[in-house]
This record gives sequence, C-alpha cells and structure tokens, in this order.
Amino acid sequence: MPPFTTNAIVIRSMNYGESDKIITFFTQDFGKLKGIAKGARRSRKRFQNALGLFSHLRLHFFDKEGMGLVRADSCDILHSFPKIKEDLQKILYGNYYLELVNEMAGEREGNREAFELLASFLSNLEEREAKEEQLRLFEIRMLSLFGYRPNLRRCNFCKKDLEDLEEVPRVFFSLEKGTLVCDRCSKMWNNLIPLSLGTAKLIERISQMELQNIHRLGFTAQALSESKELLHKFIRYQLGKEMKSLKALREIFPFNFKFQNSNAE
Ligand SMILES: [Zn+2]
Repeated sequence: MPPFTTNAIVIRSMNYGESDKIITFFTQDFGKLKGIAKGARRSRKRFQNALGLFSHLRLHFFDKEGMGLVRADSCDILHSFPKIKEDLQKILYGNYYLELVNEMAGEREGNREAFELLASFLSNLEEREAKEEQLRLFEIRMLSLFGYRPNLRRCNFCKKDLEDLEEVPRVFFSLEKGTLVCDRCSKMWNNLIPLSLGTAKLIERISQMELQNIHRLGFTAQALSESKELLHKFIRYQLGKEMKSLKALREIFPFNFKFQNSNAE
C-alpha cells in the first residue's frame, strides 16, 4: 500500500504525454498537492475515470521527496457531482470555486476548514439551484480562511464601530487596507469603494456565522450588487489578477449572472 492516503478534490486536471495526467488536488490533510497519475487514461481499475474536475475522492499516493509532484497510485471515488457536470451555469460556478481555491491555496499548506468549505459548496451546487448568493458566501468565507478576511467591524482610522455608525447612509471599503472606512475619514483616502451600511453589516455577519446557517441568509438586490463589486475588486487586488472563470461567467450570464433567454418573446 502507498504510504499516504487523504480525501481530495480535483481542482485542475490535464493530460500529459500518451497516457498520464497531471492533477492538482486540494486535499483535506496536505492542502494543495500537484501529482502525476501514471497511466490514468488507461487504467480504469486504479482510477475509475475519477480524475475529472470536481471529483471528491479518497486518494492514495507516494511522496518520495516531500516536494514537487506526488505520484497518485489509485483512488476511490466518494462524490462525482453528476448534476454539476450537466448544467452550464453550475459548471461555471463550480469552476469559479476551484479557481479561487487554486489561486489562494499555497502548496502543501494544510487548510482543513477550506477543504470542508469547498466540499460543502460543491454538494450544495449539486443538490440545489445555482444562485448568485452562493458565490458571495463562498468568496467571503474563503477569503477569511486563507487570511484575507475583509474587516468591516470598525473604521480602520477612527476605530468607530460599525454598530455606532447607524445614522450614516453609506460607508466605504479600502482595497489597500481590506477594512471599513467611515464617511468622515473617507475624505483623506483614495481607492475606496462605497457601500451601504446594510451591506457592510451583512458581509461582517457572514464572516462570523456558523457554516450550517450560512445558506439560509438572504441578500437584497442592493447587497448582492454592492458585495459583488467589493469582493471582486478585493480578490483582484489581493491576487493581482482577474479570475478566468469569472470572465467566462460574465460573458455567458451577463445580467447579474442570472440566466436570461435572449430569444424570449
Ligand atoms: Zn472613521
């Protein structure tokens, strides 16, 4: 038996040579791991065609050097998420989840909570209708788990609490600092994104609440669009690049990512 076994989700997969695959796994115990699956395109017995995107599996592997590529030996599939794969909108949502994890996760940096979050959001996408709110929830929670949490608890400069800003109609978010800036302090700073107090409170609540309650939260149309702008700009600022899967989502589902039938009467 190979020495290592862990639960893993396939976040990237590409063919290599005649019969191999190079896979990026996000694993429960070791974080992001890149591996080679020798003969994966020939051996149904060892890999059961399980190395496609989204696959959640029990992975057995060798890791000779403790660095570089691991060698995937075999796997047992736990969930293959068939309903995601037959729905274009779900594929695009799922691809965005995978790309975000791939960009934020460091290689071989274990992050069990982030693994559980990804698995739970893929299950949710499999079982329920694809809703834009899910993208916002995923972004907020993943940013927190990878150490980029947007902090909207208090103004970064005068330290006034969000709860004490009741009378103001809007607040700001500083991309540079990743924190809230109140209306009064905003005059001294550039690169701020305006948002309503309600949206700031919602994002703060989502960062803190129990995972099992998160899917019940509702967004107003305003909160949805404000949080989208804030989170996408913040993610781009933090990672220094545009997410490819987000670009695809915008092109195919341009109106707030909701499906619109252009041939409607
Ligand atoms: Zn302030």
